[in-house]
Amino acid sequence: MAWNNWKGIWHIRSISASCNLFLNFNGVTRSRGSKAGLLDLRAFLFTGLWEARMDAFCFSRYTKALMSTAMLSEDELIEKVIAGERVSDAEALLLYRLPLNVLGGLANHRRVLAKREAYRGRGAEVVTYIVDRNVNYTNVCNVYCKFCAFYRTEKDHDHYVLTHAQLEEKLQELTEIGGVQVLLQGGHHPKLGIHHYLEMLAFIRERFPWINIHGFSPPEFHHFSQVFEMPVREVLRRFKEAGLGSIPGGGGEILVDRVRNKISPLKANSTEWLGVMEAAHDLGLRSSATMMFGHVETLEERIEHLRRLRELQDRTQGFTAFICWTFQPENTVLKAEPVGSSEYLRMQALSRIYLDNIDNLQSSWVTQGPKIGQIALKYGASDFGSVMMEENVVSKAGTSFRLQAQEIERLIAEAGYEARRRSTWYELL
Ligand code: SF4
Repeated sequence: MAWNNWKGIWHIRSISASCNLFLNFNGVTRSRGSKAGLLDLRAFLFTGLWEARMDAFCFSRYTKALMSTAMLSEDELIEKVIAGERVSDAEALLLYRLPLNVLGGLANHRRVLAKREAYRGRGAEVVTYIVDRNVNYTNVCNVYCKFCAFYRTEKDHDHYVLTHAQLEEKLQELTEIGGVQVLLQGGHHPKLGIHHYLEMLAFIRERFPWINIHGFSPPEFHHFSQVFEMPVREVLRRFKEAGLGSIPGGGGEILVDRVRNKISPLKANSTEWLGVMEAAHDLGLRSSATMMFGHVETLEERIEHLRRLRELQDRTQGFTAFICWTFQPENTVLKAEPVGSSEYLRMQALSRIYLDNIDNLQSSWVTQGPKIGQIALKYGASDFGSVMMEENVVSKAGTSFRLQAQEIERLIAEAGYEARRRSTWYELL
């Protein structure tokens, strides 16, 4: 590499060190689309690696062992990611241990590759968001997940099941701010029968036909199947017929049963979660996919989670987006050291590279706050999530951020992108 390049790169890095992460990545972002730009990206990434190599302390014995498992050298692996090729689990482990700015630069490159054809060729420049509202139709739940501060039992004085009048009021407010989606989820209520849900769906569909019902996570469907004594596929079919439009990826946590048995032993296991999604996709209901990390799982288990999602997506192409967030520990039984923003960005960046068949990644400002949510746009995210005019689950666990559409648009524009509203299916509105 020519000395001139080194000097330029050191300049970028010194600005970054004294200012902020954005400046570092603007160097990469500006280069998108051109051959010269790709060379700049390579130079930038290899310099980051060289710097890491100089710091022998960054490389644990574990990482060295992974390097031999991955078979590729780091330079070859970076070339592979730049070329847009699929990475293996061993390679993902190696990528995870790259310097954060290098991993972020690679994720940003993969985001450009994934989105550049979208929106009439403007996908790389556009960051989307949606105006929606979380509505939790009941907080009664008999699953008692250790990470949950939201659920109540029927004996608790503040348990509830929303009435149609309450639903109507909430959706009227959503309509007034231009909302197009309701994220309808609830606890696993042991007594509500199928007609309660079908009537709720039909009520919303009839009164608010412009609002898509993005409702009921896979564990809820698994629960319905047991309570209604009906196969999951039939429940999905009946719900779709009544007005359900798409399914959120909630309750994914980590799709590894060792982890699920520790944090939510009474909830749908990983095969059941994936089985609901596969049946839903087969019936034409698209969904999002999620991951909640930073509790009892290992890094290898996070990657196993990603692998199971990628395999299902290869079969169905039903996932519209992936969202990861960190466990929020306040008011929960599960105790774990909170995961920092750096680890969040690292995991999101790795997810963008690994999930090469899911086009959209949402940044999680709800758990990370607006500033990290904004920085996440340089670490592989292409969507800013939702306005979320009501949020009841994460806020009960001690994290409460609120953003209006105007503020979301300002944050997106400040990061150098064009902010656009979208539908559930990532069409521009
Ligand atoms: S996370 Fe969902 S399933 Fe688990 S206890 Fe809370 S409401 Fe119930």
